[in-house]
Amino acid sequence: MRCTIPLGFALISLFSSACATETDPDEHGQAALEMLAEAISFETVAGRSQVCPYARTLKARFVAAGFSETDARVFELQEDDTCSLVIRYPGSDEERKPVVLLAHMDVVDALPEDWSYPPFEMTHDDGRLYGRGVLDNKSGIVAITSTLLRFKADGFHPVRDIYFVVTGDEETMARTTRRLFVQVPELLEAEYALNADAGLGVLGADRKPVYFQLQTAEKTYATFELSTTNPGGHSSIPRRDNAIYELSSALGQLQGFKFPIRSTDSTLAYFRETAQLIPGVVGEQMAAFAANPSDESAIEFLDQMPGEAAMMRTTCVATMLRGGHAENALPQSASATVNCRIFPGVSLVQVQALIAEAIEGHGVSIKPLFQPSANPPSELSESVVAAVSLALQRDYADIPVIPYLSPYSTDGAIFRANGIPTYGVAGQFIIYPEEKRSHGRDEFLPGESFLKSLHYWDVLIRSVSHETPD
Ligand SMILES: [Zn+2]
Repeated sequence: MRCTIPLGFALISLFSSACATETDPDEHGQAALEMLAEAISFETVAGRSQVCPYARTLKARFVAAGFSETDARVFELQEDDTCSLVIRYPGSDEERKPVVLLAHMDVVDALPEDWSYPPFEMTHDDGRLYGRGVLDNKSGIVAITSTLLRFKADGFHPVRDIYFVVTGDEETMARTTRRLFVQVPELLEAEYALNADAGLGVLGADRKPVYFQLQTAEKTYATFELSTTNPGGHSSIPRRDNAIYELSSALGQLQGFKFPIRSTDSTLAYFRETAQLIPGVVGEQMAAFAANPSDESAIEFLDQMPGEAAMMRTTCVATMLRGGHAENALPQSASATVNCRIFPGVSLVQVQALIAEAIEGHGVSIKPLFQPSANPPSELSESVVAAVSLALQRDYADIPVIPYLSPYSTDGAIFRANGIPTYGVAGQFIIYPEEKRSHGRDEFLPGESFLKSLHYWDVLIRSVSHETPD
């Protein structure tokens, strides 16, 4: 059964008749679904001028609910045609450090011709909610927004300030995020940030919850250009040296190169705890690596698994290639883009030196395209783990909460670089990696997972604002 969720319509019938699911939403759930449909309808792709209107729409909801203009601010970044939104939910105790809740409004583009559903209209089909951004990261925005609005309506008072920070260009330049610390310096006082854009609940193939990935660190995103030049000439008289061949020889060397194995307390905890959930040789090898990160047979085995391998070392991979200027001319230049995900504690200079060594002898130069900021891992906080465990208790009881180093990067990196410990705690549960379609075609979130995430954020936010849930 398929139906498009219309904006501005009562959604009562959606889940009860025409589009029935296993979980019927209550009033709060229905309002949140409507807000999610509204969120998807804003094409918040870079360059489409929809982020600021969406930010203002969200702000209007907070103001209508009783937040003051000074506690609900939109910051416009005109040159990039984007905005951020910062909401402050004032706490009663000024001595207590604030907590930040973090999400982003922008999405990666989606081509309607590639999709089975219109990407910028939320469609409900077979228990799933389809639409660009439904997973990354609009369900996070909506779950937090609807929770805070309900808290306000219920007269809830947090003990400490809660800041809800919604950025506008996480998927591209992250300039709205970098500016926040000048625009709202109080954010620098935060005890920690909880990021709705990282972390994940993992379901098994039978849709039973298996574990919760709590993201405590992320690799640093860096990009290099590898290039070479040549005098060129007529292609009827080939020279011995050739820009394209030299670059491809260098890339061949890079393909075979492996960065040194690395570990942190969190990655070893990840391997040790995940090992207990995975039967057979995979679990055994994970346990062996956790016990001894120099265990060569464990390294060799886990290296065959791309997701695990990415948690053991820096990776660099060629992603784009350019070269030559005419069909009948020897190439005068060739260049490749190499994207790296740098392990915590490793510097850009170290990575550049290792790549240079790996491709030596081919006359190919290497330069970073920008200077990434260092992104220290956040030490696992017992109180955050306790709050997340409590929030999971009703729907996902007793599953382990396991620290996770993500190979992808988010706004969390910028918060960590500013000295704020940041934890990825998204409340979505999906079969991983099969159902993770962020940035891809037919992005969806199981409707049930979305509705359960409302309860999750309710308990989590109450808990971190130091009022026990009732
Ligand atoms: Zn995201």
